[in-house]
Amino acid sequence: MTTLILRRARLLDLDHDGSIGDVVVAGGRVVAAGPDAGAAYPSAETVDLGGDILIPGLVNAHTHSNQSIEKGLCDALPLDAWMVVASYGGAGARLSPRDLYVSAMVGGLEMIRTGTTSVLDCARADLEWIDEGMDAIMQAYLDLGMRASVAIQFSDLDFFSSIPVELVPGGSALVRPPLARPDQVLASADRFLDRWEKRSERVRPLLGPSSLPRCSTELFGAAVDLARSRGARMQTHLLSARSQIDVARTRFGGSTVAFLRDMGALEDWASFAHAIWLDEREQMMFAESEAVAVHNPASNLKLGAGVAPVPGLLRAGARVAIGSDGASSNDTQNMFETLKLATLIHRVQGPPATWPTAADGLTMCWRGGARALGADVGRIAAGALADFTVLDADQVWPAPAAQLRNQIAYGELGSAVRSVYVDGLPVLLDRRVTTVDEAAIRAEARELTTRIWSSLPDRLARFEELRPMLERIEAAAGLRSDPSCG
Ligand SMILES: [Zn+2]
Repeated sequence: MTTLILRRARLLDLDHDGSIGDVVVAGGRVVAAGPDAGAAYPSAETVDLGGDILIPGLVNAHTHSNQSIEKGLCDALPLDAWMVVASYGGAGARLSPRDLYVSAMVGGLEMIRTGTTSVLDCARADLEWIDEGMDAIMQAYLDLGMRASVAIQFSDLDFFSSIPVELVPGGSALVRPPLARPDQVLASADRFLDRWEKRSERVRPLLGPSSLPRCSTELFGAAVDLARSRGARMQTHLLSARSQIDVARTRFGGSTVAFLRDMGALEDWASFAHAIWLDEREQMMFAESEAVAVHNPASNLKLGAGVAPVPGLLRAGARVAIGSDGASSNDTQNMFETLKLATLIHRVQGPPATWPTAADGLTMCWRGGARALGADVGRIAAGALADFTVLDADQVWPAPAAQLRNQIAYGELGSAVRSVYVDGLPVLLDRRVTTVDEAAIRAEARELTTRIWSSLPDRLARFEELRPMLERIEAAAGLRSDPSCG
């Protein structure tokens, strides 16, 4: 087994304070880390990092790779309206398996170049070619060398079933019949696990029921049972728009979180993206479980979806990770930006004593991310996976430990990323991608975007037909859930 020493780096994670040390790697894992740790391995291959800063690779715990090709799609639209334009319910762009591969590559390259080594990708492939589509996305991550947990995102109900259409006259007419039979949908998820569960330690298959309101109770319950029986992990969306409070009232007995708990879904193998509209009782309920909430501050801000109660969740002891969300709602995959926002966004609400700090942000990113993925990442310690990002010290100007954490959380947006290692292997070395032909992928992506944007007028026309009704539903749901309106 080849041993590699990354020598003379400032090591920074939740336990290392930025002091100079070595990291010894063998078999894709850290063997030893600390001052002069490499001295015991005189014949090992050595890379001298000359005082650059070595941190665990950032973990993006929620995105959608099928959207990476659609940056800049919308502006000033609330979440439910955005959903119609972006993908669901509209005449959305249909991506072939090759298109999905290219889109995943585009997002993956952006993540690697900005220091992210692990991603949890809720990927949606058209039902017509779901097997080939999901395989293409998995292949993209295999080729790129990133660590990826890819959830096959599925639903059996029409998008309009998931918003409170009954609040306005004529709203229910928007709802179309179920898209597919639950057993059909579940069979495709089962096949996905069959094909991929033993194929790679680095690229893993997950289950991804879109959200509780987008699925029949039969399908969601069957997905939970499947996760448990096959030992698979799961990611879904939770209370991502204020309108979901009304849906909880009519379909889930008032509390979506209690409904999920009673179904057996609040387990350590499950993570829940957004988790915005949880009341205090639900925050406690969530914290009492071992499930992970994934905070997506940039996307939530852009869609005006609300600010997740992260200070309350952290105070209650909940497990929280952070994610970029998909590029058609964020629009970057840059986890330094998400890290900064995840920490700062709460300062407009509570008093300073409740504000998450840079260390809290890094804890959410590294420790929360590791829990969402179920992988030993996010730390530089013997036994952990050797996933690192190396930052150019001449661009970060390292300060004492406490300030260095602040610099990483608030002062860096990825331009200092020099090299990135996954499983101890370089995927970015001195700013050059080592695993794939980046220029060829970018050329293919240019062709794909031309095709994608040509369908935009049709998508917008469909949206404009629906817009008045969507705005009435949004307004009605807002009034119903605003505490000041009683
Ligand atoms: Zn999402």
